[in-house]
Amino acid sequence: MKTSSDIRSTAEDSLIPIVTRGACISVGFAHGSVCVLDSLTGLPDAQPDNSSIISVEVEVNRLAIAIKFVSQELVVLATRVAKEIDANLAVVFNSHIEILNDKVVTDELQKEIVANLLPANIAVLRVFLRWEKRFLLMESIFSREKAEDFRDISVRLRKALAGVTTHPLSSIPEHCVLVVPRLLPSDTVHLANRAVAAILLEYGSFGSHSALFTRQLGIPCVSDISKATGFFKSGDVVVIDAAQGIVTLNPNRKILEDFQVRVNRDTLLKAKFKERAFELAVTESGDIIKVNANIGCAEDAVKAAEDGADGVGLYRLEHLYIGKTQPPTFEQLVREVNHTLAPFNGKSVCVRLLDVGSDKVVPYLGLPEEGNPALGRRGIRLMREFPELLEIQLKALLSLMEDFDLQILIPMVTVASDVAFVANVLSKCCAELSVKKPLLGAMIETPAAVLSVVQIAPYVDFFSFGTNDLIQYIFAADRESALADVYFNEAPEVIFRLIEKVHNDVPAMPLSVCGELAGNQLYTERLLNCGVTSLSVISPLVSTIKHNIRNIGL
Ligand code: PEP
Ligand code: MG
Repeated sequence: MKTSSDIRSTAEDSLIPIVTRGACISVGFAHGSVCVLDSLTGLPDAQPDNSSIISVEVEVNRLAIAIKFVSQELVVLATRVAKEIDANLAVVFNSHIEILNDKVVTDELQKEIVANLLPANIAVLRVFLRWEKRFLLMESIFSREKAEDFRDISVRLRKALAGVTTHPLSSIPEHCVLVVPRLLPSDTVHLANRAVAAILLEYGSFGSHSALFTRQLGIPCVSDISKATGFFKSGDVVVIDAAQGIVTLNPNRKILEDFQVRVNRDTLLKAKFKERAFELAVTESGDIIKVNANIGCAEDAVKAAEDGADGVGLYRLEHLYIGKTQPPTFEQLVREVNHTLAPFNGKSVCVRLLDVGSDKVVPYLGLPEEGNPALGRRGIRLMREFPELLEIQLKALLSLMEDFDLQILIPMVTVASDVAFVANVLSKCCAELSVKKPLLGAMIETPAAVLSVVQIAPYVDFFSFGTNDLIQYIFAADRESALADVYFNEAPEVIFRLIEKVHNDVPAMPLSVCGELAGNQLYTERLLNCGVTSLSVISPLVSTIKHNIRNIGL
């Protein structure tokens, strides 16, 4: 981040400030000149789809050489990423090497050349586009990431075939605000040693690999800025508050001054909060409030431990099930969960049972399509139909009890029989494996669950409020739709009333909040006053929320 003296006060007053909004991918403030790149492929103009070839053998041979070249390039890249960014992120490129050399993929490429007499680059374009579409059709965030991987490999392979060796990002100006349609994982590597002030994207989800890279590199990033590459011009001056997803074009002197005040305050505060991030948060009246982290993969867990999370308050298991052709085996589950939770060895970890269905599709279960999937078979409803899915998870989790203070959380509870069902299977598994029963909790994220806590309580040891779904269901507002955003902004007061009601109905029950509301610093005190006893947030917020708690007298 630049200092105030760096901030250009040259923004011409005649230029009118224009505010654009997008979605936050990676938090932070930035100020700088825009550099727009319409495309990052660096590929020459596409050949016509019907280009003819000299010889099938030549093309097959060209393809084999390109695959070998790209595989070697990826090994170098993985090593570079491990050294310059993060060892965990190098995994992305190792998985690209696997895809590139997968027999199903290479056979399909050869067949495309031979059967349609196509040049290797067109065959690559077609085959990888087919794979990309297959994953995109699955509509889950994780399969969209897989689609992105296929697009990335396709570009890399076609560049190798065309003999293109430079990347457009290797020549962008230092400290620029990069504006691109989208960012692929391999693009981000070219940003690792370049001082980019921020990135603005037209497309890109929070969970994508590129999003992970930008967060890891600490580059502020905002996505979902419609037609950004047409709207911004290279050389435009912008200020960005990525946490809020706000980009201001042509900031005037007043905006720049206000911005700098906020940047300075933010920097000082963060440094102050971080000093005590590893201490427990105790309110002025002496109550210890645990601040845990929400995680979904191993990288999140490493970061959460570094950010001072007391434990894991919500481990979403979905990434182990989505974008796959079959569910993980018992051994795979044990290995993956153990690996992910390793930074929290000996600490409390709350693992949520599989919450697929709705927007997270698992094709291998062969479920018929639902008109209204968010109201259909998801979370515990699905596991009641596939008890073997539940049993394998419970047994895998129970095998980790020696290493972790384990808690198990049931998603999408609506009626007491949902929790009675899991409690029963859990008891049987514990008896079979001769282990003591871990704490069992229910997600309170549907209106019916709120109204049934007295009936649910006898089967569980704690409740965790999933405010993202609770808002969706109580306001009848689709959480995936930007059109319903207004209800999410209106929601807190209603949610506080619901939490208060639950606390009054079952006063002895420990209450946690693991939805997004828990990370909103404005509401920490209110949540604790409603009877909440622990919070679970994304890890960069841990130190700030702990600071808030220390200033609350309950
Ligand atoms: C929630 O619904 O608030 C929650 C934490 O779960 P998810 O966002 O995974 O549905
Ligand atoms: Mg939920």
